[in-house]
Amino acid sequence: MSQDILNEIKGFEPELREIRQDIHRHPETRFEEHRTAALVAGKLREWGIEVTEGVGGTGVVGTLKGKRQGQRAIGLRADMDALFIQEETGLPHASTVPGKMHACGHDGHTTMLLGAAKYLAAKPDFAGTVHFIFQPAEEAGTGAVAMIKDKLFERFPVDSVYGMHNSPGLPVGVFATRPGPNLAGADFWGVEFEGTGGHGGGAPHLATDATVVLGHFLLAVHTILPRNLHPTASAALSVGHVSGGSFGSPNVMPAKVVVRGTARYFEKKDQEVIKRRLKELAETLAAAHGCTATLTYDVLCPPTINAPEKVPVAVAAAAAVVGKDKVGEIPLSTGGEDFSFMLQEKPGVFIRIGNGVNADGSFHNVHTPKYDFNDDILGLGAAYWASLVKQELGWAEEENRA
Ligand SMILES: [Zn+2]
Ligand SMILES: [Zn+2]
Repeated sequence: MSQDILNEIKGFEPELREIRQDIHRHPETRFEEHRTAALVAGKLREWGIEVTEGVGGTGVVGTLKGKRQGQRAIGLRADMDALFIQEETGLPHASTVPGKMHACGHDGHTTMLLGAAKYLAAKPDFAGTVHFIFQPAEEAGTGAVAMIKDKLFERFPVDSVYGMHNSPGLPVGVFATRPGPNLAGADFWGVEFEGTGGHGGGAPHLATDATVVLGHFLLAVHTILPRNLHPTASAALSVGHVSGGSFGSPNVMPAKVVVRGTARYFEKKDQEVIKRRLKELAETLAAAHGCTATLTYDVLCPPTINAPEKVPVAVAAAAAVVGKDKVGEIPLSTGGEDFSFMLQEKPGVFIRIGNGVNADGSFHNVHTPKYDFNDDILGLGAAYWASLVKQELGWAEEENRA
């Protein structure tokens, strides 16, 4: 019974709080999670779990086999990195590193997965293998890829992979997810328009003018979402940078101008339309004015897409801990999450766990200097992970009958 899991984990919750606050005091950013990784590896070993360090840089994988025979394997993933933010919580366990803090709760994510590891190591009544995946550099959007490129899923084969993120504003004791897209795909794009440039005062008629093309293009960009995507599609397309010419020489028509922006989308087909239309508009508008256009398009992370067949598994695991009525459907968010890369490799689910909300409805959101992970949910999160292993890899017979 998952309620029993929660009660047992609550027995060592003080240790989890200590671990979480220790990690919080010592935040480490992208690929520099050496202390955190060592702490994770040390705890896993202390509990008798096989440890592989240095996976994709500072990543750590703990491997635990169930005491019953089974060929199936599950991956549970937590992220370990902090952000470049100056903490302003004033808490006793506040960051001791100037300019860095755990403002996204990855200290809590790491600790919840450690809590599940400790519980499962003491009670490995499942059939198969659990790989505890501790990932670096989520905030850079490159940690998951680094682990995958380091052959994460070849060295630690899994049938499914699961991730969890805390959600400020969602009450304590609530879990939420949704089938299909959850978080947006996030890309950067840029166009360089090139003409001849020339003497803007003396001989404009002898030049081709990239700034005119840029002007047309800036307006045309904003026709893509309403005119090329389906009216019900969710997406964002924004310009964030424009440059060209010399401030000191406004009488010189620049030969090159540059525009850069971001695209957010939930469907690959929408990403393809956005990319294709940016290129078509840039090239045709440039050609109309005797210039050329070169598009660069960088995919940062794909949309986070839950495998529909795995969502009921995650929902059942959460419901077993907090009750069916406390597991809801989360709305789409245009935030990004690099767990999406793992979900491209293996079917699984990204779930949100409520980090709590004040009585007046207020809360400090992630990525802000007053945010803190809520230690009251450490047990709930760890119990969800253990309950998920129970869902995916079965449990001891006497438990099933209970
Ligand atoms: Zn974040
Ligand atoms: Zn995060």
